[in-house]
Amino acid sequence: MNKVALVTGGTRGIGEAISRGLKEAGYTVAATYHGNVEKAEAFKAETGIHVYKWDVANPEECAEGIAKVEADLGPVEVLVNNAGITKDGMFHKMSFDQWRAVLSTNLDSMFTMTRPVIEGMRARGSGRIINISSINGQKGQMGQANYSAAKAGVIGFTKALAQENAFKGITVNAICPGYINTDMVAAMPEKVLTSIISGIPVGRLGHPEEIAGTVVYLASDVAAFMTGAVMTINGGQYIAN
Ligand code: NDP
Repeated sequence: MNKVALVTGGTRGIGEAISRGLKEAGYTVAATYHGNVEKAEAFKAETGIHVYKWDVANPEECAEGIAKVEADLGPVEVLVNNAGITKDGMFHKMSFDQWRAVLSTNLDSMFTMTRPVIEGMRARGSGRIINISSINGQKGQMGQANYSAAKAGVIGFTKALAQENAFKGITVNAICPGYINTDMVAAMPEKVLTSIISGIPVGRLGHPEEIAGTVVYLASDVAAFMTGAVMTINGGQYIAN
């Protein structure tokens, strides 16, 4: 049987490219979504990829959802924690709801999604966990105190989990995309986007496939010695290492 890869937010944007890339590489892919049923159904019909709906911020829904994926397809060998949201605003105007929504979807989801799969991976002595952070978790971004905090948290989580599980054959890595051409970026005001692109040395937004390629690599057997790494993919906008 092919290895099972579970991709959160896997029906749209960067996650869609990751799901497609992993399927092409031979994995049995399960892609989750939250609210955009129309897009998820179209994606399922076009790709034949298994699609599941739950909220990554909800621990019970995650545990039930993962149990269903494993019953349907087999144990999750590769987990890609990709689902994320933004709710931007200057911190001095930010509501607690804005803060909590972003922290729970982007950071609590590291717990709710990873906790149900980690014991199985440890028992089998193999696994791959790939967490999607952000350039703004590395450098901070004005207007995104909530998002920057959550994405920096993803990096800390990745490094700790990598250390705890290295000896069990599990690698845990993070990817920090720069600005990638998806709905999330399309929602930004045009003036802001133009100014951001002028600060990207490569001179354009990234493509979702340019993130997916690295995920496929990290999931592969040849990446077995890479763990706790933070992969910067941002067109040279922020050179972190
Ligand atoms: P999109 O907004 O295009 O897609 C987000 C995906 O996450 C959708 O599939 C959405 O489901 C899903 N999702 C959102 N909230 C939840 C939830 N509570 N439970 C389950 N699924 C949820 O985002 P991108 O593809 O642009 O971003 C993907 C990841 O990459 C995110 O973590 C983002 O923070 C990160 N990132 C993106 C960058 C960019 O420039 N685009 C830059 C750096 C990092 P549904 O379709 O049902 O709404």
